[in-house]
Amino acid sequence: MKKENRINHYIDLHAHLDGCISVDIAKKLAALQQITLPAKTDKELTSLLSVPDSCQDLNDFLKCFELPLSLLQTEKALEDAVYLVLSEMHKDGVIYAELRFAPQLHTQKGMTQENAVQSAMRGLIKSPIPGNLILCCMRGESNQQDNLKTLELARKYLVEDGGVVAVDLAGAEALFPTEDYEDLFAKAKKDEIPFTIHAGEAGDADDVRAAVRMGATRIGHGVRIAGNEEVIQLVKDAGIFLEMCPTSNRQTKAVADMSSYPLKTFLERGLKVTLNTDDPAIERTSLSREFKYMESLTGIAKEQQKQLILNSVEAAFTSADRKNELRKQLFSETYEKR
Ligand SMILES: [Zn+2]
Repeated sequence: MKKENRINHYIDLHAHLDGCISVDIAKKLAALQQITLPAKTDKELTSLLSVPDSCQDLNDFLKCFELPLSLLQTEKALEDAVYLVLSEMHKDGVIYAELRFAPQLHTQKGMTQENAVQSAMRGLIKSPIPGNLILCCMRGESNQQDNLKTLELARKYLVEDGGVVAVDLAGAEALFPTEDYEDLFAKAKKDEIPFTIHAGEAGDADDVRAAVRMGATRIGHGVRIAGNEEVIQLVKDAGIFLEMCPTSNRQTKAVADMSSYPLKTFLERGLKVTLNTDDPAIERTSLSREFKYMESLTGIAKEQQKQLILNSVEAAFTSADRKNELRKQLFSETYEKR
């Protein structure tokens, strides 16, 4: 009998560790550190850990990270969080993930950026699925030295698989334009550190143009290039991967009208689109739900969903061996089940 043509294996390339702290994980991290959570019930905790319906924009959204970040300030907590988040993803069908975090945001209780990186790397070892780390530099006013330190650590710990594989630029795009970080990424390029940049999320197509010019091979979101033919062509010609995250875009109002969400159009125009979660706990989503969401919203066919996953394999900042293994796993366990 013909089996259902079902997609049940996924790859998440764009997930922020502090945006993946579910109620369950928050409780475990709080118990570990004897921290009293500011909520009596799971319902209260859910509302503290996830985005309110009244969220206005990315800046509003970014405020939801305060509680999860406060639980990620010790070495053991960070190590456990990486392991617990990848375990939750595994249950959702994710077979490979790249978790990103900003080491400079984990120094509130005296951890150094280097301690933070080493702790997160230890968390990968216990994970039930292969995973890698992307270190985020942050947009901001007075953190230039911190960003340089992050870059230095990325260079020191860079591997092809099983550790730090790339850097990113995260934070308030509308307040701090991408082109202000040209020197930082020129250094990353010189040091041969692969990178992705959040662009075209709260900013516009110009930010994407700047990120491509600066050498990003992947763009976080990029959704706002819709309607800008010149930048769409630029992204296509340069073979840039877009890490799209629809629920996040709806909640931060990166896209005003979700009925015209451009994922399917981009895919059909030959852009290398990947589908990701961004901050699943904050958005109350998971990667399998994002696929269902896009299927119902845009009508993408199963073949197109497979294409999204294969694009993710190609886009992953990991070794050729790992990619071959992922392709094998996808074809033997998902694609041939029809
Ligand atoms: Zn993001």
